[in-house]
Amino acid sequence: MDTVNPENNPKKPVINWASLRENRAKYESMKWAGLPPIEKNFYKESPRTASMSQEEVELWRKENNNITCDDLKEGEKRCIPNPVCKFEDAFEHYPDIMANIRKVGFQKPTPIQSQAWPIILQGIDLIGIAQTGTGKTLAYLMPGFIHLTSQPISKDERGGPGMLVLAPTRELALQVEAECSKYAYKEIKSICVYGGGDRKGQIDMVTKGVDIVIATPGRLNDLQMNNFINLKSITYLVLDEADRMLDMGFEPQIMKILIDVRPDRQTVMTSATWPDGVRRLAKSYLKNPMIVYVGTLDLAAVNTVQQKVIVIPEAEKRAYMHSFIKSMKPKDKVIIFVGKKADDLASDFGIQGIPVQSLHGNREQCDREQALDDFKKGKVRILVATDLASRGLDVHDVTHVFNFDFPRNIEEYVHRVGRTGRAGRTGEAVTLVTGNSWKFASELIDILERANQVVPDELIAMAERYKQSQMRKEMEKDIQRPWRKPSK
Ligand code: AMP
Repeated sequence: MDTVNPENNPKKPVINWASLRENRAKYESMKWAGLPPIEKNFYKESPRTASMSQEEVELWRKENNNITCDDLKEGEKRCIPNPVCKFEDAFEHYPDIMANIRKVGFQKPTPIQSQAWPIILQGIDLIGIAQTGTGKTLAYLMPGFIHLTSQPISKDERGGPGMLVLAPTRELALQVEAECSKYAYKEIKSICVYGGGDRKGQIDMVTKGVDIVIATPGRLNDLQMNNFINLKSITYLVLDEADRMLDMGFEPQIMKILIDVRPDRQTVMTSATWPDGVRRLAKSYLKNPMIVYVGTLDLAAVNTVQQKVIVIPEAEKRAYMHSFIKSMKPKDKVIIFVGKKADDLASDFGIQGIPVQSLHGNREQCDREQALDDFKKGKVRILVATDLASRGLDVHDVTHVFNFDFPRNIEEYVHRVGRTGRAGRTGEAVTLVTGNSWKFASELIDILERANQVVPDELIAMAERYKQSQMRKEMEKDIQRPWRKPSK
C-alpha cells in the first residue's frame, strides 16, 4: 500500500487557528446581538441591616447553622453583604412577596435565605451549599421573581421564558414547581418539563408562552434540539442540586443547554456538597460568584433527628425491620431506604396485609407520583424507597427513616436522615449496618459524635477492624513492591 507523506501532500488544508478564533468570536457576538440589556441589582439595604456591627453579623451567622461565606472573585475581594434577619429587610419594597410570606406565616428567613438574598438581589452570582429542607428553593425563587418582573422590557416582549431552573430528578423539579406556583405573583407562569411526563402537553405549554421553566436536563435538551423552546430569553438561571446532577451523568446535557443561554445572565447554583466536579461546573458557568455554606455534611446541624445505629448480621435484618414496623404508633410515618430491591420488600409487606408504597427508578412516572401522593396524604404510612427519594423529598411529617441497606456513600446517609426531623419537628433515624459496610464505619462515627448521638461499641470495633485490614493490605503491597514509599 502506498503511504502518503502529509508534508508532501499539496491538498492538505492548512488550519488557520487565528481566523477560526476570530470567526468564533464574531459568531458569538452575532448570536447575542440585539438582546435587551439585563437589569440585575434590586437590593436596597435596610437601615437595620446596614447598622449591624461586625460582631452582630458574626454572631448571627454562627447561630444560624454556622453560615460561612466567601467571595470567589479573583483579585480584589468584594464585601460580603450583611445577612437579612427579617423578611422586610429583603422585600420591604416588594409587597406581593411580603403578602405571600405573611399568608403562609413563616416566622423568619432560614439561614441560607438570610445570607443568599442580599447577594442574589444585588445581581451577584451565587453558589449555595445547602441541602433540601433548608429553604434553598425560596432562597433562589424569591429574588428570581423580582428579577423577572423588573426587567426593562415586559415579559410579553421577551419572546420566551426569563428564568430556567435545572433540577436532577422529576420529584425535585415537581417540588420546585409547586413552590413556584405557591409563591409566584403578577401572573408569572411556570411549567415543569421532565422526562417520563406528557411530552406533547409540555410542548404545548412551552409554546404557549411561560415565564419560568423548571426542567430536568434530559427532557429540556430534547425540546431544545427540536426547536420547541427558545432559551435565549433566559436571564436568570438556577442549577439546583448540582452535585446530584453530576452524579446522574447530566453534564453533557447541561453543557448543550447552556450554549443557548446568554452568557451575561445571572446564575445561582445549589449543591449539598462541594466536590471537584461541582467546583469545575461553577468555574465554567458562574461569573465571579460568592459562595454561602450552611452546615451541610455536619449532621450536628440536624439536631432534631435522633440517630440509632444497629450493627447486625445480614440474615437478621428483615426480622429486625418487621419488629420495628410492629412497634410503630398509628401516627408514625416511615421511609424505609433500600439499596435496590424496593419491590421485594414492598411485596413482603403486601403479603402480610400491611399497606405500603414504593418509590424507585424502575417505576413509571405516574406510579411514582401516585406513590408519593399516597405517602404525603397518609393513605400509606410506609414508603419503601431507593436513594431516588433521599434528596428533594419534602414530606413534613415523616417521623422515622429506616435505613434497611446502608447507602453507597456517607453523603447519601446525611441526605436520608434529613428526610425526617423537618420543619421544626423531631424525628428518628434507624440504620442497620452489616459487615459489608465496614468501610463507612469511621465516617459514620464522626457524624454520630458531632451530633451527640450514641456510638455503639460494635461500630467502633468495626471501624478498628477495617483500619487494621487496610493497614495489612498496605503492608502486603509494600512487601510485594519494596520500592514503594512506606505507607503511613
Ligand atoms: P427546601 O429546602 O427549599 O426544600 O424547603 C423546605 C421547606 O421549608 C419547604 O416546604 C418550604 O416551603 C419551607 N420554607 C422555606 N422557607 C421557609 C422559612 N423561611 N420558614 C419556614 N419554612 C420555610
